[in-house]
Amino acid sequence: MSKPFNPVFSGLPTTIFETMSRLAREHNAVNLGQGFPDDPGAEDIRTKAAEAVVSGWNQYPPMMGIPELRQAAAAHYAHHQNLTLDPDSEIMVTSGATEALAGALFSLIVPGDEVVLFEPLYDAYLPLVLRAGGVPKFIKLKPPHWRFTADDLAEAFSQRTKLVLFNNPLNPAGTVCPPEDLALLAQACITHDAIAVCDEVWEHVVFDGVRHQSLLAFPGMRERTVKISSAGKIFSMTGWKVGMVMAAPNLMRVLSKAHQFLTFTTPPNLQAAVAYGLGKEDAFFDAMRQDFQQARDYLAKGLTDLGFSVLNSRGTYFLNIDIAPLGETDDAEFCQRLVKAYGVATIPVSAFYAENPVKTIVRLCFAKKRATLDAALERLAKLPR
Ligand code: PMP
Ligand code: GLN
Repeated sequence: MSKPFNPVFSGLPTTIFETMSRLAREHNAVNLGQGFPDDPGAEDIRTKAAEAVVSGWNQYPPMMGIPELRQAAAAHYAHHQNLTLDPDSEIMVTSGATEALAGALFSLIVPGDEVVLFEPLYDAYLPLVLRAGGVPKFIKLKPPHWRFTADDLAEAFSQRTKLVLFNNPLNPAGTVCPPEDLALLAQACITHDAIAVCDEVWEHVVFDGVRHQSLLAFPGMRERTVKISSAGKIFSMTGWKVGMVMAAPNLMRVLSKAHQFLTFTTPPNLQAAVAYGLGKEDAFFDAMRQDFQQARDYLAKGLTDLGFSVLNSRGTYFLNIDIAPLGETDDAEFCQRLVKAYGVATIPVSAFYAENPVKTIVRLCFAKKRATLDAALERLAKLPR
């Protein structure tokens, strides 16, 4: 073939998550890189899925998602986030948050539109924005607080801004955006008549009593926000690619047109199990948060005791260490050395920047059993410091 492929994709490396998981297998390393728990997930929810496979419907479900799931999502978000959503016109089920993101960007962006993005950014964002013809405008967030200011927003937004793609809680920073910053962002969207595509997949994984607030609930945002959720994260079963999209009917109409030709539907059995899971009692979600928070504290203490400089994590499965005090200047090289010579896989945060990356921050996943964290700490203890 001499004809070129689409350059957005042909020029891409394999994702950092896949790369580090492969290196972890090759070097028999403890994998604290790619974010997934090493626990099978709630048995009752898995049983529901199994029952739905064996005795339920295995043909195409409705394109927008099975009614039970859309109703369960409306009830879930009314209860947990005080949102009023119409299950028929404002909720759609997708095959993971990734499909929801792709569909939103492909259906909302007109080539040439400006798109505001925050760095560090989740790796799928930029290729999807570029493939849609969007012109990225970056706001660079820096450790240890990873916050933006009104000036940052004023510089990035313009009358050409079509949308902002916003991840909160933020992977890989592990931060939860404070309400005053959300209000600034909402104001910028309203002033510039922009849509907010909000990747809220980590909405339930928040710690220290922090509550997640959706931008959708902010005054003036109801008609211009697309909220994206992921059952894989809500139930800590990341292989379950079931996403949910919430948006006002005028936005949902076009979002559903992209969905109908990206995947069209999502396995009905998983949808049935997710519908069941969304109705679980508060204690289930509280226990999940508490378990992850304890794992976060355990790993943070272990790393601090070993002399690492640990940054705060208020949400997600991740905490970060600052390797600058170790005299390190290249996180990618550091992570390669760590996995190959010490047998611990991690993720260099520079991979989440499009340009001029912060190069001294390394992300570790704490959503693991104590034995896994202990094994990683034992190996990290051998690193010269
Ligand atoms: N967005 C963010 C910020 C994520 O961290 C992830 C996966 N961890 C996704 C989207 C993808 O979610 P899904 O697996 O439901 O496609
Ligand atoms: N979201 C996961 C993480 O941040 C990885 C997902 C993936 O491998 N694409 O680790």
